[in-house]
Amino acid sequence: MAHYENPMRGSSLEVKVLTERFGIPNVEKLDVFVQHNGYEGLRKALTMTPDAVIAEVKKSALRGRGGAGFNAGMKWGFVPRQSPKPKYVVCNADESEPGTCKDRVLIEYDPHQLIEGNIIAGYAIGSHQGYIYIRGEYRYLMEILDRAIGEAYAAGFLGKNILGSGFDFDLATHTGAGAYECGEETALLNSLEGLRGYPRVKPPFPAVVGLYGCPTIINNVETLSSVPSILRNGGDWYAKIGTPNNGGTRLFALSGHIERPGIYELPMGIPLRRILEEVGGGVWKGKKLKCVIPGGSSCPVLTASEIDVPMDFDSLSKIGSMLGSGGVVFIDEDTCMVKAAWRIMKFYAHESCGWCIPCREGTAWLKALLERFHGNGGMAEDIDTALDVSYNMLGKTLCPLGDAAAMPTISILKKFRHEFEEHLKLGSCPFEARGSESGVRVSAGVAI
Ligand code: SF4
Repeated sequence: MAHYENPMRGSSLEVKVLTERFGIPNVEKLDVFVQHNGYEGLRKALTMTPDAVIAEVKKSALRGRGGAGFNAGMKWGFVPRQSPKPKYVVCNADESEPGTCKDRVLIEYDPHQLIEGNIIAGYAIGSHQGYIYIRGEYRYLMEILDRAIGEAYAAGFLGKNILGSGFDFDLATHTGAGAYECGEETALLNSLEGLRGYPRVKPPFPAVVGLYGCPTIINNVETLSSVPSILRNGGDWYAKIGTPNNGGTRLFALSGHIERPGIYELPMGIPLRRILEEVGGGVWKGKKLKCVIPGGSSCPVLTASEIDVPMDFDSLSKIGSMLGSGGVVFIDEDTCMVKAAWRIMKFYAHESCGWCIPCREGTAWLKALLERFHGNGGMAEDIDTALDVSYNMLGKTLCPLGDAAAMPTISILKKFRHEFEEHLKLGSCPFEARGSESGVRVSAGVAI
């Protein structure tokens, strides 16, 4: 049973690949899943060589849905198959990027699809053990997954000699304690090993030195859930759904100031304007759009004039932002961007693990500076100081959290500098003074 109202709202623009079984009663149960093409991708994979499975996933142009956007098949290909060490599959279900809440529906509504993706990945890289690392706040999802894993063992889809193929694969869940940092792949590995969730220095990358020092692939829930349909229908079929080099669909979690927030499965490359106007029903209350965070709070914001961009990794990168984790936050004209920058930084300062100085000091200083600025204690030089601190974090931290904090801040300071100047001129927040402030609604993580 679903634990909360189904957030899938439905749109005629949706292409249902990951969500094709959503809405089928009891599809989280193995027998119903199997009646609807369940484990067919695995059956097909087991008739192929591991290299052919990797080639099919490469051909599909499936790119990591956690945010980095790396070609999944290529990542699998980096695992040294001849290594005598055990190899591991780790599924990153530590979804915690503010604005992002799509992995949880994949686990809740179709857990066997994710399990099937894990087994196929294990077969492809020669692994016999997988772990699904779930964020602490999603603990209730472990019950769903554990039940489904038990069913898969009982039916011979997990364990020894899967479907008579001679291939063995075990899968277990593991919960984190609720740290955003543990979504970073090497911090996740440390946490999974029972250590403090600090990130590791890269290289070496986990494909070569990962869990317990052994070759490991780490993929996001949405990435692994996409794999069964790729095996079933072919890499070419999947690649054609999206744009060149950006195959398939993705789950977009729409939140903020729109009429129809929710989670929608849309083809990669769909223009952001269509997502706003045709899927999300436009900006709420008939207001104008000010800007959009296109892929979770760590992405540079786009102004209202930039929303004709196709929503794929390459197109967003070309205009200086990112597709990220698919959490699209719309912000209306009555939102104070000084306050938005401060609230975003409050999150990152709280979540910084404190290991490296640019992030530990930078996020704390930025939070204090932005809070003071919004509280009308700002000075003219603060704007450039905040930019300077942000640039001194960018690319200078041990893990991507420093960049994640700096990038949205830089984009807000540059694109909405006039709002900072207006605060200085008025000596107060113009939005609060007018009594028109919207605040920002975010469906997951922080509410700004
Ligand atoms: Fe920790 Fe931040 Fe440094 Fe990452 S960037 S290691 S979160 S202090």
